Amino acid sequence: MFKSFYPYEHVDSVHVIDYRKLYNMGYKGIIFDIDNTLVHHGENSNPAVDQLFKDIHQIGLKTILLSNNCDERIESFLKNIDVPFISNANKPKTDNYYKAVRMLDINVTEAVMVGDQLFTDIYGANSCRMPNILVNYMRYDDEEKIGIRRHVEKSLLSLYKKNKSYQNRLGDIQLKG
Ligand SMILES: [Mg+2]
Repeated sequence: MFKSFYPYEHVDSVHVIDYRKLYNMGYKGIIFDIDNTLVHHGENSNPAVDQLFKDIHQIGLKTILLSNNCDERIESFLKNIDVPFISNANKPKTDNYYKAVRMLDINVTEAVMVGDQLFTDIYGANSCRMPNILVNYMRYDDEEKIGIRRHVEKSLLSLYKKNKSYQNRLGDIQLKG
């Protein structure tokens, strides 16, 4: 049962993913969660994220944002980036994962979902058999308390780490050095 929460890959951040390798493997689109994946919850984009999108587009991959947050939040995030988005996405419900790949004009198996939450981003992607990558959620250094859901995620992740057959299912797409 737990395996529906297991990501294909688990990496530290969106910045250490080898997007060119994904492209060379035949993937055509990346679907990003925003909050605590690309930026801290509620923050606008920053130069590093703007550059990341430029680099990804240059490789030839399409991108779309899939967020459970509202229009206003996403539009302020998008100041310097020209990327389509779906707000109020209701993840992990799968409807908007399918809508996202339709908007990118690709198939579910040609997309990779990247997000920080097992119960929304990853579970939803697994439910439609879409490859996915978990990133460590962004926290502030002085942030001590974590919620109950993060505790459950931690337990699931330690089970995942013992289950080698579910790891590196995209063939280790982490940038080296
Ligand atoms: Mg998130």
